[in-house]
Amino acid sequence: MYNFVPKGCEALKEIFPKIIGNTELCERLARSLLSENPDLPHAYIIEGAYGTGKRTLALELSKALVCENRTNPDAPALPCGECRSCRNVSKGICPDVIEIGTDGKASVGVESIRDLRRDIHIYPNDLDRKIYIINDAHTMTAQAQNALLLTLEEPPAYAFILLLCENSALLLETIKSRAPIIRMKPLSPEDTERAMLISDPSLESKKRSDPALFDDVIMSANGSPGLAADLLSGKEAERIAEMRRASEKFCILAADKSKNAQLLIHVTEVCTSAREVAKEQLESFSLAVRDLILLKRDSDAPLRFFSDRERATDLSDSFSLRRLLLIADALLEAVSALERNMNTRLTLISMLSNIGMLN
Ligand SMILES: [Zn+2]
Repeated sequence: MYNFVPKGCEALKEIFPKIIGNTELCERLARSLLSENPDLPHAYIIEGAYGTGKRTLALELSKALVCENRTNPDAPALPCGECRSCRNVSKGICPDVIEIGTDGKASVGVESIRDLRRDIHIYPNDLDRKIYIINDAHTMTAQAQNALLLTLEEPPAYAFILLLCENSALLLETIKSRAPIIRMKPLSPEDTERAMLISDPSLESKKRSDPALFDDVIMSANGSPGLAADLLSGKEAERIAEMRRASEKFCILAADKSKNAQLLIHVTEVCTSAREVAKEQLESFSLAVRDLILLKRDSDAPLRFFSDRERATDLSDSFSLRRLLLIADALLEAVSALERNMNTRLTLISMLSNIGMLN
């Protein structure tokens, strides 16, 4: 049983106001933090794809542990975000919340872990906790992981260690057995947008200046607000937007048998360059076709390609389900042929013939 829910929150799931999505996970952590006998372990592995909010969660969890209002039922939330400790962690100037990372190298090396091992036995400066956040923990060398084992086994009572990793399969079993894994889920497109705008409000102006490109990037980021923000800031955004336009055109042409010739030209035009480019474009076609298939079955299905549901529904209505499934199969087969290094042009011809475009 937990003690209380801060006044500013209606329910446990509103704890961690900065974490978007991942409701179950936040509820679980909140329950542990607010229980009569807080039962947090000494360490967690936070696993999730690039840009899904692992570091944000690590910082929010750190704040919740050191927040001066953590036992105050009248607090606006947990963490409150307003007390000195919360503010210092946010600004990165809290001496007792220590971040470790690759420092621009390919991996987190053993030296960084040895530094941690020495430092962890020095009492906290300012707080009653000392928290270590190891970024890119999946890149730790085997030597670094082995060096961390003993510390994970018996850290000082005030210490708390968070290992942030994209893939826990890269961690030694002995590390995983000493720290429970928290998995961050990819966000829905709506939540991706919300998380992006919360972490960087200046993106609002980019959204206003080119809403279509903004939507394209969000739909391409597979639920990762960090990746979406990266895409939006680089040249990559224009390439993705182009690829998506090409995929929508593919669907429009494929829906109309009289447009066979145009479809043939379109596919060979957008897929002829390097094999990797062709493969990526075919995968983008597949994602669009997948949405159209889902819409045949459920008009509220979550979409991963089309940001305009009405437009996608119209497009889906112009196909039979059978035809969409046929196209989806042909696309999958073509992608797998390219993965096997088959000739790009021959693969495309065989794909178009499979969907009846060459007769
Ligand atoms: Zn606070």
